[in-house]
Amino acid sequence: MVNIVLIGKQGSGKGTQAKLLANKFNLKHINTGAFFRKHIADKTPLGIIAEKHIRKGELVPDKYVFQLIEESIEPHIKGLVFDGFPRTYEQAIYIVKRYEIDQIIFLDLPVEIARERITSRVECHLCGKTYSLLTAPPIKDGICDNCGSVVGSRADDKPEAIDKRLSEFVEKTNILIDFFDKDGIVTTINANDVVDNVNEKVSKIVGDLI
Ligand SMILES: [Zn+2]
Repeated sequence: MVNIVLIGKQGSGKGTQAKLLANKFNLKHINTGAFFRKHIADKTPLGIIAEKHIRKGELVPDKYVFQLIEESIEPHIKGLVFDGFPRTYEQAIYIVKRYEIDQIIFLDLPVEIARERITSRVECHLCGKTYSLLTAPPIKDGICDNCGSVVGSRADDKPEAIDKRLSEFVEKTNILIDFFDKDGIVTTINANDVVDNVNEKVSKIVGDLI
């Protein structure tokens, strides 16, 4: 098992990088945000609880996040790529107790760039395909290229929610980096670059572990 954690602000491209890594190295992509959105769409008990917090721009309480992760791990996988988890010290304690973490990759991005990327991001409400109005908009304005459904901001991408999340992130990330740095497993990558360049650097790190 090779277990990787990607840490980065929203907009740092960690979701994209996690997906690329998962495909390339046959790892399970643990995306708690997407898993929660699926639960919310399906109106599961976990989804109903998560939605209340996300709408207010709050993080979902840990016990529900842990439950979500446990439920989504399948047997017979080569490893895990954690995307957007852990976010807090408590979650970091949990993850090292539960899994052997080989590498933390911190995708570093200035706050202003992160805000700009997030506010330009839209998503298909039906199939989940994401677009950037800055760099990769849908072909027809407001319509998904994939399925023809309506494309718009995510419920948790309203400006107040974004600012709240970004400031929470900065505050908590320094604690996380210090925590994992004790084991010498943190590598910082400049995320203010194109996807391919970031991917090359990240793949090199993971490739060396496999
Ligand atoms: Zn779609």
